[in-house]
Amino acid sequence: RAKAKGPGTSKVFKPSMHTHVMKRLQVANELQRAIERQEFIVYYQPIISLDSDRIDGFEALVRWQHQEKGLIAPTDFIPIAEETEAILKIDQWVLRHACTQLGLWQQQFPNLGSLTMSVNLSSKHLAHPSLIEVLDEILAETGLGGSSLKVEITESFVMEQSKTSLDILEQIKQRKIELCLDDFGTGYSSLSYLDCFSFNILKIDRSFIKRLVAEQDRCEIIKAIVDLAITLNMQVVAEGVETNVQRKRLKALNCGYGQGYGFFPPLDSQNITRLLEQQDTPIN
Ligand code: C2E
Ligand code: MG
Ligand code: MG
Ligand code: MG
Repeated sequence: RAKAKGPGTSKVFKPSMHTHVMKRLQVANELQRAIERQEFIVYYQPIISLDSDRIDGFEALVRWQHQEKGLIAPTDFIPIAEETEAILKIDQWVLRHACTQLGLWQQQFPNLGSLTMSVNLSSKHLAHPSLIEVLDEILAETGLGGSSLKVEITESFVMEQSKTSLDILEQIKQRKIELCLDDFGTGYSSLSYLDCFSFNILKIDRSFIKRLVAEQDRCEIIKAIVDLAITLNMQVVAEGVETNVQRKRLKALNCGYGQGYGFFPPLDSQNITRLLEQQDTPIN
């Protein structure tokens, strides 16, 4: 057994760590196969305008349809995929599928206004200019306008900011694709990043919304984030809206959009189509 000589000088390798490493390796291997066989499915979670209570668009959320284990949540494989180039392929697959699906919905439901699609991209893409080629290809294939598409990036990417990543973000914006800062408030964000990357949309992390339980709960932080976003000309989406109290309070704070189980959970494309059919029927 290694002897601890103070912080960081030596590590004890426990059997549990060995199992953990083996498990990650196994998942990484299986992911390779899953990519070849396209064993993924995209779920879509509606994003609601708090003003009109209507569906404004969707967030695409990937799941892995594992042959034996069933549906696997992204939190169980995306971090592993992010250790390799696998994440690039997965994200591109999701992007292509979600854009194709949005094109179909826009055609089928022209009365519902300009439905949009928000797709999560790993910050790894910001080191690969090929993302722009892929985006152009997908927009051309699907005939979607750039303004129908939003890309969500979490705050962690700011650690890796470089000329390349700034260039890529700039090129995304040139295509009228909106930039969305995901999970705001949890990462390493410095306020100056908000300025320097000029995001169009800010998503307040669920952990802040969760604290809003009762009518009289304090919500100064949420208010401050919303006000900041409005001042910087950004739209604000609250994540993880689960209750009516949260919905009402957020609306009163001028938060524009909400997303959460209190509206709809992530659903497969058939269920979203059904939902849109209901919204499409004129109310007489
Ligand atoms: P995220 O982008 O912050 O997505 C929101 C997550 O919150 C989703 O989890 C969603 O199902 C969950 N959620 C939505 N409403 C509620 C609510 O009211 N209460 C609670 N407790 N949770 C809610 P999901 O689908 O498991 O995805 C987890 C994360 O995995 C995502 O967080 C995103 O960071 C990542 N992810 C998902 N799909 C992709 C993808 O295609 N590419 C990449 N790179 N990452 C993805
Ligand atoms: Mg997201
Ligand atoms: Mg998020
Ligand atoms: Mg989140």
